[in-house]
Amino acid sequence: MSAKQNSAVGEQSSPPRSPNPSKGKKSDKPESRLAMVRRARRINRELAEVFPYAHPELDFENPFELLVATVLSAQTTDLRVNQTTPALFARYPTPEDMAAAVPEELEEIIRPTGFFRAKAKSLIGLSAALRDNYGGEVPGTLRDLVTLPGVGRKTAFVVLGNAFGVPGITVDTHFGRLVRRWKLTDQEDPEKVEAEIAAIFPKSEWTMLSHRVIFHGRRICHARKPACGACPIAHLCPSYGEGETDPEKAKKLLKYELGGQPGQRLKPPPDYPGKPAPPAPALGAAG
Ligand code: SF4
Repeated sequence: MSAKQNSAVGEQSSPPRSPNPSKGKKSDKPESRLAMVRRARRINRELAEVFPYAHPELDFENPFELLVATVLSAQTTDLRVNQTTPALFARYPTPEDMAAAVPEELEEIIRPTGFFRAKAKSLIGLSAALRDNYGGEVPGTLRDLVTLPGVGRKTAFVVLGNAFGVPGITVDTHFGRLVRRWKLTDQEDPEKVEAEIAAIFPKSEWTMLSHRVIFHGRRICHARKPACGACPIAHLCPSYGEGETDPEKAKKLLKYELGGQPGQRLKPPPDYPGKPAPPAPALGAAG
């Protein structure tokens, strides 16, 4: 763990650095664009030190598996998807297999991820399109990916960034919330957020920036109770104080490896410092 991690999210002896001193001063001049860009890039650099192991939290072994897992991840957790996909890929390892699936059988396997009828329709549809139009391979361009049923820009960027190494910004719920809290944009529409953030950071940073921001949103800067008092970038954040500022109480809000809990991946990368996720519990009331 780096010094910065220790200073913010680690042991109790080191409190977070001073929060943004401008917070709450109503007479402050508006931040210039140059200052905002510098602050944004510093947030990215500091998050890189806190989360050097930031990674996609979906388990996958090839572009097809990542595409399917990303479609399944809508409206559910990556953990739930990771607990579901081993059985799915064992039964339908290729687009050809999935395109030929009996819908009810596929629905039953993916039921724990929710919205399973719509998702099954997308998976069978996109698998048929891969089989018929792309020789059974996942295409590596945004233009082609978004022609697949159930695949929008967010899914396409996840696949491009993580299976093809094409830089992309993933504006999911965490990313949008955090960049608005940081006052890097006030846009709500994901495409507009994407465009404004893309103008702030070099292209080479886009994919890892997305992972770091999403990691931060899942672990520290939660939607309802951000752990401001345990936040390593509080000194750069104009929204410090939106959440719990008491360091001890804030520490209890930390999630996943920062909270001593398992991560979301059943097979996390070797540098992941936390525990792998548990396999699926016995099926019961999931749905
Ligand atoms: S946890 Fe609080 S201080 Fe940290 S980024 Fe979120 S709102 Fe800002």
